[in-house]
Amino acid sequence: MKIAIIGAGLTGLSAANALKEYSEVTVYEKAEVGGLAGSYQNEDKGYWIEKFYHHCFRGDEALLDQINKFRLGRKLVWRTAKTAFASNGKLYPLNTPFEILRYPFLSFFDKIKLARFTLSSKKKNFRDFDDYRVVDGIRDELGEKLFKEFFMPLLRSKFGENYVDVSYAWLLARVSIRSNRKYSGEELGYLRHGFHQLIERMAERLLIVQKTPSISFPLSVNGERYDAIIYTGPIPLLQDKIKKAAKLPDVRYQSSVCALIGAETTLSEDTYWTNVRDKSIFGAIIEHTNFMPRDDYGEDLIYLASYSSPTGGLFTKPESELKKLYLKEVEKYGLKEKDVNWIKIFKAKYSGPIFEKGYLKKVTDYRTPIKNFYVAGMTSPPNYPERSMNGSIKAGLEVAEVVKNELGLV
Ligand SMILES: Cc1cc2nc3c(=O)[nH]c(=O)nc-3n(C[C@H](O)[C@H](O)[C@H](O)COP(=O)(O)OP(=O)(O)OC[C@H]3O[C@@H](n4cnc5c(N)ncnc54)[C@H](O)[C@@H]3O)c2cc1C
Repeated sequence: MKIAIIGAGLTGLSAANALKEYSEVTVYEKAEVGGLAGSYQNEDKGYWIEKFYHHCFRGDEALLDQINKFRLGRKLVWRTAKTAFASNGKLYPLNTPFEILRYPFLSFFDKIKLARFTLSSKKKNFRDFDDYRVVDGIRDELGEKLFKEFFMPLLRSKFGENYVDVSYAWLLARVSIRSNRKYSGEELGYLRHGFHQLIERMAERLLIVQKTPSISFPLSVNGERYDAIIYTGPIPLLQDKIKKAAKLPDVRYQSSVCALIGAETTLSEDTYWTNVRDKSIFGAIIEHTNFMPRDDYGEDLIYLASYSSPTGGLFTKPESELKKLYLKEVEKYGLKEKDVNWIKIFKAKYSGPIFEKGYLKKVTDYRTPIKNFYVAGMTSPPNYPERSMNGSIKAGLEVAEVVKNELGLV
């Protein structure tokens, strides 16, 4: 049996590894192995760092299994990650109950309302709220002040200006899976020296053809016949003819623009993640070397993360202009030009679906109406409500099971 997998991101790599002992597997990748979880190597200092910030959670079973399977378990480290809100150039830590109580932009009463909301969200069936917008849900339940002062910056840091279309179901589902915070903050995991180590090992024994594939009927890729094809890229990049025959939904995606800065200092003493409350071109500041040891890199590393539309806004601005914009803006939070060693801009056109109103109807099944043509990846069930490395690995493993059963490979 011959199987083609389109895309060498985490979905494609995990599907390929799960299928390779049962059939001949070819992976087609049009850009870089690793996809959104890809890394960049600093040639001067030799280290690897993800182009877009990455960490994992204790509950990421599929990811943690792969890390162990590829003998990288000893490299996995867990740290309590400190978070903050940035406002008017100042950072307000928000980790301990004391820091939350001291936070000046919400009243004591609002903070109690927030705590109650977290508890009640877990009891709600989020699916019932898919046709509501998150902006309406929060305003109705918690009022304008909490929406503006607390939720809007968080939503902006996750979806950019697309936050207005996001569904209330997404927020409820996310609050309920992510409320496992410890007293001093949330515990996050990282593969010390980078997730590229996992990607390299996953790709090691696979046949990966770095070429843009063209799919045609009867099922073939670049003219070569296959018994099954698994497509793992974003839906808008699939050829129109195939998308139509596979009856795939029109999913709206957002793009990511991330500035990565090598510097002589961090902005804060020990904060990893800062949500930016000010109107700014970036919604979050991620201080990687406040999470992992600076000595691993020989300098500090800071991400400035923005989400945009794939067809406009920041995504379409030239790199030289973006570098200037990010450097100017980060100065407000205390990073001086003299302390910047270098800046790089990374962009991803389709970095994730926008979990907009009605999105749950668009979550895609692995099977499609085209016999032996399958779709897995960011729109698969394990990637809701959080698109993640874990969700993509799980989607890759699940689609491999479906293919094995349908082709009788078990
Ligand atoms: C800014 C940002 C931060 C993130 N942070 C985290 C985090 O902290 N923790 C976490 O768990 N997850 C995080 N993620 C999410 C995680 O990176 C993704 O969910 C995961 O890597 C997606 O894997 P995938 O294989 O499903 O998709 P992709 O990585 O998009 O892989 C698809 C691959 O298919 C290729 N492709 C597409 N079309 C074609 C075609 N026609 N022919 C050939 N190849 C094609 C692409 O080039 C790509 O390599 C983050 C993502 C972003 C953008």
